[in-house]
Amino acid sequence: MFGGCHRSGADDESTVRLPIGQVRDQALNGPIKVVATVGMVGDLVREIGGSRVAVRTLMGSGVDPHLYKATRNDVLALLQAEIVFQNGLLLEGKMVHVLSRTAHSRPVVPIGAEILSEIDERLHDGDHLDPHIWMDVSLWARGARRVGQRLAEYDPAGAEYYLARAEQLARQLDELHAYGRQVLATIPETSRVLVTSHDAFGWFGQAYGIEVFGVQGLSTESEAGLRHVNLLVDILCERHVSAVFLESSVPARGIAALVDGARARGWAVRIAGPLYSDALGPAGTYEGTYIGMLDHNITLVARELGGTAPPGGWQGRLSGAREQASAPKFH
Ligand SMILES: [Zn+2]
Repeated sequence: MFGGCHRSGADDESTVRLPIGQVRDQALNGPIKVVATVGMVGDLVREIGGSRVAVRTLMGSGVDPHLYKATRNDVLALLQAEIVFQNGLLLEGKMVHVLSRTAHSRPVVPIGAEILSEIDERLHDGDHLDPHIWMDVSLWARGARRVGQRLAEYDPAGAEYYLARAEQLARQLDELHAYGRQVLATIPETSRVLVTSHDAFGWFGQAYGIEVFGVQGLSTESEAGLRHVNLLVDILCERHVSAVFLESSVPARGIAALVDGARARGWAVRIAGPLYSDALGPAGTYEGTYIGMLDHNITLVARELGGTAPPGGWQGRLSGAREQASAPKFH
């Protein structure tokens, strides 16, 4: 009933409106069946869609979206969805075909690509851009407003509801962004170097004034070359970088190679983290939400690189702080 020919894309011409003559009735049809690819996108849709949507997220905590292939159940879920939200920009690199097939019969909204085209209309799908848009909280706030507009287009009866919730979330994200700018600015200038498993933190570095380096590139598909690893070891030793960071969705071996390389040259570097780069933290925890994920990343990076941030983070809700608080204390 909700079929029709939909086009997906990052330009404003694309629409998620139902074909003329079709009207969605919540009372009759129930909540809108939404499928989201990654947790960061799913969390936006769930927060904004509230009781009017039923969101299923395909990739859980610790899953690497660059390498993830759709299962048979995922394909079924996509076929049963009324609307699909993804990040786009090749983040879901192995799902490109299944998602473009899905887009023939229902709207597929690439929220990351839409955010980028909003800030720079010269950008389009074909460019190989950094897909990790959620790392700049102010950009993800734009994403919140975008999701609100998209849901309002699809389900005009709920427009007021979606737009109000999107606005409320976007304001909250703007506050988190301000917290990020504040605490990350406390890192001594010479220590503003963030080294992680792969290049997921480009937008983070740009937003919060930190130089970033990844062992692997924008995708985790290709392994780092020895030359690149040696270059990073040079940076660690020459700039006296004290900590390098694991990521929850990437194996530790790349980071371990750096630490070994630095040690061989007489520089001891600590392994910190993990940061949540491409997947939310465990379901049911604060870190399992987008806000908790970024609060964790911001707070941990600030503290590990010599800045000042409360152990409990922006809202005092980080689990690291709870563990510390409940651990026995020896004086
Ligand atoms: Zn990534």
